Amino acid sequence: MEFSLVGVPEETKRSVTPAESNSEPDVRNIIIIGSGPAGLAASLYASRAHLDPLLLTGDDIGGQVSLTSEVENYPGFPDSITGPELVQKMQEQAEKFGTVVHIDTVTAVNLESYPFKLSTYERDYKARALIIATGASHRKLNVPGEERLIGRGVSYCATCDGWFFNGKEIVVVGGGDSALEEGIFLTRFASKVTIIHRRDELRAGKTLQKRAFNNDKIDFIWNTVVEEIVGDEKVNGVRLHNRVTGEDSFFPTEGVFVFIGHTPNSQLFEGQLEVDDHGYLVVDRHYMTSKEGVWAAGEVADSTFRQVITSAGMGASAAIMVERWLGEKEEIGA
Ligand code: NAP
Repeated sequence: MEFSLVGVPEETKRSVTPAESNSEPDVRNIIIIGSGPAGLAASLYASRAHLDPLLLTGDDIGGQVSLTSEVENYPGFPDSITGPELVQKMQEQAEKFGTVVHIDTVTAVNLESYPFKLSTYERDYKARALIIATGASHRKLNVPGEERLIGRGVSYCATCDGWFFNGKEIVVVGGGDSALEEGIFLTRFASKVTIIHRRDELRAGKTLQKRAFNNDKIDFIWNTVVEEIVGDEKVNGVRLHNRVTGEDSFFPTEGVFVFIGHTPNSQLFEGQLEVDDHGYLVVDRHYMTSKEGVWAAGEVADSTFRQVITSAGMGASAAIMVERWLGEKEEIGA
């Protein structure tokens, strides 16, 4: 059974049951875990190579880019494209060539057995080759009030939640591309966006910096960290600490958008695949992990570039290598 990947309501994600029985699973040529640009590009290439790929989407369908307001640097879209639209187009293209998409999340893997074994919420699978494209998740501030006030003024997604802050004064935490890009997007709704950064120099690219500095609705607070998000039922402010002057202050706001980077989603493979000091899967120059037959693509294995195009490129490359590897092993099934 094939499912539409984009725009699936939260409550239905785990209730979709694939058509296959849960008895002894068939052996698939390739299973791709994760549905961001890396997973979708891998699916496109694997389906065009007649490997009949199965894509298991995971909970965060479409990956981080589906939460991104505007993608301005993906070639072929000179007028930019929204994250959800780009993901939808990638999905359509992969499905057109035969990728089967299951909305399901992998809960366990066994890479010691071959074919590799996977379990999801719904059933078990076996695969001759795997591409891990599980991406990365947004980092949290880990300050008092943050967890409790998620959905009550604390957000990690401007596209999802910006609308709720129409005419309001909000803060954005972070100094990278995400903070600036999403901060600029949020000025469509908010009357004022104050970007709070822990240093006095932004990490974001110069183009975004220029756009943010030229935006009348954007202010900056430098050298400052958020120590607490304050509010009972909803956010009413943040407690700040200036790291240079040592001054503590309270800044009133109704919305706190946190864009302070990401951590790789590699926990599922702990103890079975090599990871670096920050949890990124270690891959060789052809994106094979420490286990032969298992590749990784996108942000779960990339701490350097982390762009939509580089993730898609890794996914395509990994799929090409899978095709060659299975071909050499004469393992490709019908
Ligand atoms: P990032 O580049 O890692 O930046 C994270 C920002 O958050 C940094 O400014 C960092 O401060 C700050 N930060 C980290 N931990 C913090 C904490 N605990 N408290 C306060 N501040 C904290 O992450 P990103 O902006 O999400 O970008 C991720 C990747 O996606 C990057 O490679 C970026 O280029 C890419 N991206 C590209 C675009 C685009 O090209 N249009 C858009 C979005 C993202 P420091 O600077 O002091 O370390």
